[in-house]
Amino acid sequence: MTDLVGVVAELGRQVDGVVAVGVGLPGLVDRRGTLHMAPHLPGVVDLDVATPLAAAAGVAVSVDNDATCALVAEHALGAARGVTDAVLVTLGTGIGGALLLGGQVQRGTSGFAGELGHMVVEPDGRACPCGHRGCWEGYASGLALDRLAAEAGGDPPGDLLLGRLAGWVALGLANLVHVLDVERVVVGGGLSAWGEHLLAPVRSAFLERVMAPAHRPPVSIVVAEWGERAGAVGAALLARGQIASGRRVVAPGG
Ligand SMILES: [Zn+2]
Repeated sequence: MTDLVGVVAELGRQVDGVVAVGVGLPGLVDRRGTLHMAPHLPGVVDLDVATPLAAAAGVAVSVDNDATCALVAEHALGAARGVTDAVLVTLGTGIGGALLLGGQVQRGTSGFAGELGHMVVEPDGRACPCGHRGCWEGYASGLALDRLAAEAGGDPPGDLLLGRLAGWVALGLANLVHVLDVERVVVGGGLSAWGEHLLAPVRSAFLERVMAPAHRPPVSIVVAEWGERAGAVGAALLARGQIASGRRVVAPGG
């Protein structure tokens, strides 16, 4: 928490006229800005981020899940502009996710909606940092790509590995489309830097996985326009949007 306060203080010195601070965090963030659990931040449990940050910064603070923030940015200014129903997946070390349904970003009952990386795709599969087994992010993330490379041994062609990874990505996306019937999938995170090298095989594998592809409108699978910055941009947009409420600690929807 000290580090976070320090970063915000430093940024405040570099930028004039800061009126609000937005933060995106990887994990289960509730509507009051508390990070309850983060698979890739072991030891961080039930951490109230919003209250101490607002006290230190002296301006309105908005705290949300980082993938949710990324979707806010892509919906307002990027690859989900003008779209009513979309899924965003960030393929990084793990997999983050966020849902746009009926034009609204979904947060669920607790604020925890969109933990797409922890859909189980392989019963009793690989152990996941979340404590369960067989989660999607164990098969379709950056860590999974590293594992595929190690399993392949030697120096296999990149396209072969990306093809295998794409199959796992497509499996999860088909499941999501079956449940949510979205018109667009936005792929962000570090692996999205592969661009069409990854998305082209994902699209063809998706068509093999999705139910009745000939009888449904095409689902566009596109790369996030804001890349690694999407979370920060979306967090800032959420913070700006909440200033009018006049509250010091603001969690979107809370
Ligand atoms: Zn998991």
